[in-house]
This record gives sequence, C-alpha cells and structure tokens, in this order.
Amino acid sequence: MTAQDPALQPIAVKVARNQRLTRDDALELFNSPDLLTLGRLADSANRRLNADRVHFAANQHINPTNVCVLRNTCVFCSFARMPREAGAYTRSLEEVFAEADAARDNPTREFHIVGGLHPKLRLAYYLDMFRGLQQRHPGVHIKALTAVEVAHLARLEHSSVRDVLVAMREAGVTSLPGGGAEVFSPAARATIADKKLSGEEWLAVHREAHRLGIPSNCTMLYGHVETMADRVDHLLALRALQDETGGFLTYIPLAYHPDHNELGETLGRTGTATTGFDDLKNIAVGRLVLDNIPHVKTHWPMVTPFISQVALTFGCDDLEGTVVFERVYHEAGAGTPMWLGYDQVVSLIRGAGKEPAERDSLYHTVRTFEDWVPAEPAVRPQGPEGPAFQISHRAKARARGQRSLPVLSAVDGSE
Ligand code: SF4
Repeated sequence: MTAQDPALQPIAVKVARNQRLTRDDALELFNSPDLLTLGRLADSANRRLNADRVHFAANQHINPTNVCVLRNTCVFCSFARMPREAGAYTRSLEEVFAEADAARDNPTREFHIVGGLHPKLRLAYYLDMFRGLQQRHPGVHIKALTAVEVAHLARLEHSSVRDVLVAMREAGVTSLPGGGAEVFSPAARATIADKKLSGEEWLAVHREAHRLGIPSNCTMLYGHVETMADRVDHLLALRALQDETGGFLTYIPLAYHPDHNELGETLGRTGTATTGFDDLKNIAVGRLVLDNIPHVKTHWPMVTPFISQVALTFGCDDLEGTVVFERVYHEAGAGTPMWLGYDQVVSLIRGAGKEPAERDSLYHTVRTFEDWVPAEPAVRPQGPEGPAFQISHRAKARARGQRSLPVLSAVDGSE
C-alpha cells in the first residue's frame, strides 16, 4: 500500500507484516493529515480480525441517578447534578424496573447501567437492582457501573474494589462498561476531572475485574485539552493492561461534546463538537495501536450515525446498538436521535457493504442477516414520565434550534 504521506510508509509496511506499532509510530499516525491512508491501514488491520462482520447489540441504557459528588470538579460533564439542584433525579428500584419493562417489546439483550456518584446510594441498592433486572429479564446481560462508580462504592462501603466486584458479579453483572477513563494524562486530568479516580486507579479496577473473570470495555475521551502525546500514552496504557489480562472486549473512542458544561464555556467552544476528520482518525489509530483488543466500536450518539457508518471502513467492527433512552451525551449537546430502531442499525451496516451480526454483551453472535428483509418502521419505545424523559424534550428543542432549558446536568463517558 502506498501512503500519500511519506511519513506513514514505514508504518504501512509494519501493518502489512502485522507488527506492533511503537509510540513514535502512533504519534506519526495522529499527526498525519493523510486520513485516507490511515483508514486503509486500519481497515486492513480490522479485516484481519473481523473480516466484513460488524457487530451491534440491541441495548437499553439505564441511568439510575444523575446526582454526583464530583459535579463541580468534572468540568466536561453535562449530566451530573448536586442533590438539591434543579433537574437532579434518583430513581427508585420500582422506577428502574418500570423503565426496563418499557423496552420489553424490543429485542433488548443488554442493560447498560451507569450514573453519578451518589453520596448516599449504597451497594445494596445496586445489587437489588441487578438481581431484580435479572429476575425480570433473564435473557438480558447486565453491563454495569464504570470503574469510577465501583471505586466510589468501595469507599462508601469501607470495602475493597475486589469485594464490590465479586458482589456485583454474584448479583448478575456480566461485564463492566469502559467509561470514566477520560484521558489518563495527569496534566489533562487536573484540568478536566481534578478529583476523579486517577488513570492508574481506573486501570487497577479493570485489572481486578479481569482477574475475577469480568470482561470490560475501555474508552478514551478526546477533543478537549489533551495533546496527541496524551492520546498515544493513553492507548499504550490500555494495550499494556490488555497484554497482562486479555480482559478488554472493545475499545471505544468517545468524542467530547462542549455544550452545557464548564469546560466548553472556558474553551469558548460551546456548540462545536469534534470534527468528522478527528472522529475517523481516532477510530483508525485506535484500531492500529490496540492490536490486542479484538473490537473497536463507534458510538453514533456522539459522532452521528453518518460518521459511524463511514467509520466501518476506518477500522471499526462494532456499531453502538439501538441505545434506547440515551441521555448522557444528549445532555452535552449531541444533536443525534436518542434512539435508533433495530432495522435502522442493520440498514446502516448493510449500507456500508458490511455484514451485520447482532451480538450479546460478550460478543457471542445471536443473529445474522443473510435473508433479512426490513420490517415495518419500528415504534419508538415509550417510557414512564419523569425527569429522564424531560431530557428528550430538551434534545428536541435543541434540534429545533431553540435555546435549551436550563441545564440539568451528564455521566462518565458511558461506554
Ligand atoms: S463525569 Fe462522572 S464522576 Fe464526573 S461529574 Fe459526571 S457523572 Fe460525576
């Protein structure tokens, strides 16, 4: 393969030979303007692992509370609220179960559960939630609680991270989401998430989960104050842990959204998200550097379904699923729909010339689509009335170009 940017030529040779890329190689990739070569290299690396198959999960997001003790220090976050702040909410277990039941008619195979660090919600609340969901929806995987939430619960319970993870596993959790990693660089973290778990601590929670047989996802939040070197070092830290444990299933680059958070105002970028160029570059470089992580996912609520579709030929083999009731990124200004129908997801993948494969949380294929015929347009699931559903009204207002209502608040990179 010939690269337009000559600096990429030696890297193209390494990729063709399936050799591991170095820190300098990764920096070269991030700094290169030759996006199409990056895409072709990443696509060839992805094809080696996943051929033309693109996975997706029919999932439902559940955000039990937006109350968070770090509300005033994670300056990139648009979701969190102080306990008495307008728009703060905390779901009772009955409300969570009612919300889960609202998607019963959909082919949901995964509950994705993340939220704020509530000062009073104890581990028992979450364990009862997991058991209740498992009992009511025995076929649905539970992917729950970021490393940040796990460490918070361990502190509240005066317990170890290991004990919290063991209890979660026994209550039905089958994997951890990858949120809360942001970018590991201490300097960037000091600016955007001063009081949050450090990068080493985030990695330690995932190491412990992997040792207990709980696989997880990993993420990187990009497009804020991080440098290219910060991005590379973050990816190398993920790769090193994967060499050690093999427990990461998927890497998901998460685009920072600047609306309705202090960082966006400080940077003067309110209303401007990342560029499609950078979104595709982050997918491609992630695929090329993380040679030991089997899957790379594109998160359409952040980058739009259209960029996500293009990402499928830039090294990506997983499209975020139906995502019923996504709230976190919509609070931060994402103008994407809050939900995609099952057939829309399949169509997006087929439209990119790829083979859709519905998966469960652990990447077991549950359905393929060789003889697929699109069904009638799906009806958007209806949920219970409540603050979470008011968010969709604000998102609609934004989509109409109106000023949004006073900001409630957002989560920890939910994936
Ligand atoms: S990013 Fe997570 S930990 Fe930080 S304020 Fe938001 S919800 Fe809380």
